[in-house]
Amino acid sequence: MRAWWDLTGKVALVTGASRGIGRALALALAEAGADVACAARTASVLGETAVAIEALGRRAVAVAADVTSAEEVERMVGRTVGEFGRLDILVNNAGIVFGTAAEKISVADWRRLLEVNLTGAFLCAQAAGRQMIAQRSGRIINVGSIFGELGTRGFAAYAAAKAGLHALTRSLAYEWARHGVTVNGIAPGYIRTDFNRAALGDPETREQILSRIPLGRVAEAEEVGPLAVYLASDASAFMTGQVIFLDGGQAMAW
Ligand code: NDP
Repeated sequence: MRAWWDLTGKVALVTGASRGIGRALALALAEAGADVACAARTASVLGETAVAIEALGRRAVAVAADVTSAEEVERMVGRTVGEFGRLDILVNNAGIVFGTAAEKISVADWRRLLEVNLTGAFLCAQAAGRQMIAQRSGRIINVGSIFGELGTRGFAAYAAAKAGLHALTRSLAYEWARHGVTVNGIAPGYIRTDFNRAALGDPETREQILSRIPLGRVAEAEEVGPLAVYLASDASAFMTGQVIFLDGGQAMAW
């Protein structure tokens, strides 16, 4: 069978790769053959992801960068290209979440959620996109959320940022298709990470969450990996501008 999913010789950059979904995606891309630059703010934890990638026989580099800083993002992309000579795959995964009633959220908190989850992803796409346009090929994968399509109570800023990220996905896909760059999104439902540890740790909240998921469980971060590999590989060469739900059926039953 043709190796549709083989990423050997490809170079990936994953933001938010120190833990949770980003770490799982970095490892999945490495398992499929890619060399991976791992980025997040906390360098100490990031090094562990890089070591795990090298244990798979791939090259890895850990780059401390805050996605909200255009300068740090430029340096992050520059370091990746400097180290590996090119950039084929960007995974825009770095994100934060906190819930506050819409009537109470401060302007500073609203701005922070948009800054990390939307502006940060744009800055990374722009810096990586310039390199990919020059190469005339590239894959950008944005990690959104089902709440970016559905909306939800108590998380208006987060949902608005993710909705923006989904629109950015479709807009960049249209704009950069002529340069050979595809842009797609993954919109997860509940994935067990630090992100929702408190909510899932509370029995009542956990039951409420599970009752809304037709498959009756949350997913592990590793379960997001295969979809990212698909979107990064030849298997999805004709797909662009799509945001794919990975949610145990939650959006369908919303
Ligand atoms: P985690 O909190 O486990 O990990 C977040 C990662 O992002 C960390 O590596 C963190 O490292 C990094 N990060 C946060 N802020 C910044 C920043 N300003 N610059 C660079 N890196 C940053 O989250 P998850 O793995 O759960 O979530 C990953 C993505 O998946 C997010 O975009 C989230 O919205 C999305 N998602 C998650 C869901 C879930 O159920 N878990 C559901 C739907 C979407 P550091 O703090 O060191 O910078």
